[in-house]
Amino acid sequence: MDIGFQGNKRERTEIACICGERKTLKIGTVDNFIFESRIQVHNIPHFRCDFCGNVTYESNTGLPSLLKVAYRLKLMEIDWQQRDSTVVIFKIDLDYELKSQIEQMINKIIDDLKDGEPFLIMRDEPILGRRLENIVVLEEIITKVILLQGNGE
Ligand SMILES: [Zn+2]
Repeated sequence: MDIGFQGNKRERTEIACICGERKTLKIGTVDNFIFESRIQVHNIPHFRCDFCGNVTYESNTGLPSLLKVAYRLKLMEIDWQQRDSTVVIFKIDLDYELKSQIEQMINKIIDDLKDGEPFLIMRDEPILGRRLENIVVLEEIITKVILLQGNGE
């Protein structure tokens, strides 16, 4: 039994395909489907058969959890190479300066953001964001804020 001793494991560059041809190791974009959603994963190592198009991944890519996060955040593409760094994704249209300002701020406070918890960035028009694992998505600009007045004393 292999007890996690991977140091001497030689990296494969070719494996057999179900069609009888060979699949070769490539790094690039692969389409994945989760239910009705197509999620493109960029820069991921995979074995692809040029003959029938069949794709296989190594088991250590962490792809299933990455796809789960992408699906929950409704992302249509994700970069496998960035899976270990904090990634800020803007689904809203903001100017470049504001985006980089928000990115810097999020990188500073990332540990204070709970996984899965939505948050608001307060400015003239608040921005709704959400963190899932190491991906932070800025989802929506809130254009209307209603302050509920209490009865007072
Ligand atoms: Zn094949």
